Amino acid sequence: MVVKLHEGCQAQEAQSIAEELQAFLLKENGQYVLVNTSGHKQLPNQLSHLVEASWAFDSDIQLANREYQATTRSIELAPGLFIGGETRNTVFMSGPCSVESEGQLRACAEAISALGGKIIRGGCYKPRTSPYTFQGLGLQGLQLLAKIREEYGLSVITEIRDATHAHEVAEYTDIVQIGAKAMYDHGILRIAAESGKPVLLKRGFGSTLKEFVQMAEFVLSHGNPKVILCERGIRTFETKTRFTLDLCGVEWLKKYTNLPVVVDPSHAIGYAYGVPSLALAGAAAGVDGLLIESHPDPSKALSDAAQQLKLEELPPLYEKLKAVTQAVGAHLV
Ligand code: PEP
Ligand code: MN
Repeated sequence: MVVKLHEGCQAQEAQSIAEELQAFLLKENGQYVLVNTSGHKQLPNQLSHLVEASWAFDSDIQLANREYQATTRSIELAPGLFIGGETRNTVFMSGPCSVESEGQLRACAEAISALGGKIIRGGCYKPRTSPYTFQGLGLQGLQLLAKIREEYGLSVITEIRDATHAHEVAEYTDIVQIGAKAMYDHGILRIAAESGKPVLLKRGFGSTLKEFVQMAEFVLSHGNPKVILCERGIRTFETKTRFTLDLCGVEWLKKYTNLPVVVDPSHAIGYAYGVPSLALAGAAAGVDGLLIESHPDPSKALSDAAQQLKLEELPPLYEKLKAVTQAVGAHLV
């Protein structure tokens, strides 16, 4: 249940009600909001004079629920650059799977800046499937991202893989990425929440939409309203592509949640040949953003070599994305 208290409600009073209801206490737009389990359907009568509005839900999709907040949350990703809200922005985010070297990152930053892009991605702690492959540059990678941010004025999105470096990543990055394999890691979710930075949460490839959004609720209920959902492909019976991009799921998320939705076509198909078409499909669906892997020489990439676009493939894709976003009343930024 979500309960919004009257504007005049004092901190102490709100805290004592939260304790009584065993609820999370949040402040949203200057007003106290209490959240406890959706199993709770009714408020005690003695609180009614303090309550401005309350919502009872069928499941623990509560703060993310469109019934709680009808408009998509507006989140500032870079100075003056918003995702969600009334913007109809489709935010273009690109860069390598892994940060590998200064030269590699610089080439990506040049390409993204030349397009007018504002956000660069790149993993420094990689959640690899094999221990014998490149695991990421770690802190050195974060420092390279910081340097490139400084030089190019780009905002950085990079992922927390596990608790050993969660605070470090949260400190360096502008947008915290939580990967598909870490979607259920409550330690990471809490640290991401505490960072107060925008959090891009990827859907676990074996997770239902309900499980996915409930993980987003961990961040929201711990006081960080800036959560973005990312569909990056789910596992189906199909083996010809790496995963299956769940655009049906994207539609469900857009209809029933108030969180901005981003599509990552790269991890979904796993092969560069299909990435532009899937990115365009996401744009046609009116998603709030796209996360696309790109690399100066994908054949030499230390991770996800098969799926990264060459930098020269970005400008023609960007032009098409501009046309498609415009056709659906959105703007590519
Ligand atoms: C990534 O973005 O490089 C990544 C590891 O993605 P995912 O968590 O979706 O596999
Ligand atoms: Mn990758």
